[in-house]
Amino acid sequence: MTLLYADPLFQEHNTGRHPETARRLASIHAMLERTGLSRRCSAAAFQPVPEYAVMAVHDPVVLARVKEAVGQGGGFLDADTVVSRRSLEVALAAVGACSAAVDAVLQGPDQTALCLVRPPGHHATPDRSMGFCLFNNIALAAQHARTAHGLSKILIVDWDVHHGNGTQDIYFADPTVSFFSIHRYGHGFYPGTGAANETGTGPGLGYTLNMPVRFGTSRPDYRSMFTSALEKAADRIKPELVLLSAGFDAHALDPIGSLGLEVDDFALLTRLVLDVAKTHAHGRLVSCLEGGYSLDALALSVQAHLEELLAFKG
Ligand SMILES: [Zn+2]
Repeated sequence: MTLLYADPLFQEHNTGRHPETARRLASIHAMLERTGLSRRCSAAAFQPVPEYAVMAVHDPVVLARVKEAVGQGGGFLDADTVVSRRSLEVALAAVGACSAAVDAVLQGPDQTALCLVRPPGHHATPDRSMGFCLFNNIALAAQHARTAHGLSKILIVDWDVHHGNGTQDIYFADPTVSFFSIHRYGHGFYPGTGAANETGTGPGLGYTLNMPVRFGTSRPDYRSMFTSALEKAADRIKPELVLLSAGFDAHALDPIGSLGLEVDDFALLTRLVLDVAKTHAHGRLVSCLEGGYSLDALALSVQAHLEELLAFKG
């Protein structure tokens, strides 16, 4: 079974007129009800993490800035990153859900988990919130897997159309958490990092693997680039746990990413990541929602993703 982490609280991060809107989750939840998929998942419980927990990967200034803006009733952390009155509470819950999912898949019997959280996290760097992201949910989940469970070989796969610069920065010098990202790159596409020659530093050299993709890359080319790079990343670290930054903004209809993928591609990518989890990590995979801004394409892509998770025989 797949554990499903979802809560109405995640719709209380109010961004106003913004692509990263609570309507994204409303669209996903309507799909889950319509298809009956949520009833096939295990119900999952979680608690928000305490404020200090985000300092496991972030400088205290990151928390302080969020608290300050929230305390003023809301505001902007950067040109694209907005918070509202309850955003701190919601962001701490998002971290809590992703960390609880790590606990659950490591304890079993469920091997896979999907965390339908907001705000997203993969752009949040050690010292700043950016790109719609307050705290780095997946980096904090990886940190939790290390400190609470003693894991030392974790693979983070990031197929969001944007480079997960925050996750990369956090683990760039760290060989215990390997980061593999495939993303659109070039001509100023956000955030501008993630070149193929960014491969880590010091003891972490070789544990960051970037697969930049140009606008206009065909679906077959994308799929083969993903397949070969994922294999390489998995062979390098042989992970005990796989975490996935699951953004769905590489879909052809996405108003921001527009890379050209279709729903079927997300099903295939899911199977490939599950194969890695099965080969190395006893089937343990925690998937955390990142981007995806076409309400319809997002819901259908998450549906395909979750159907593969549910079909998985670990
Ligand atoms: Zn994105």
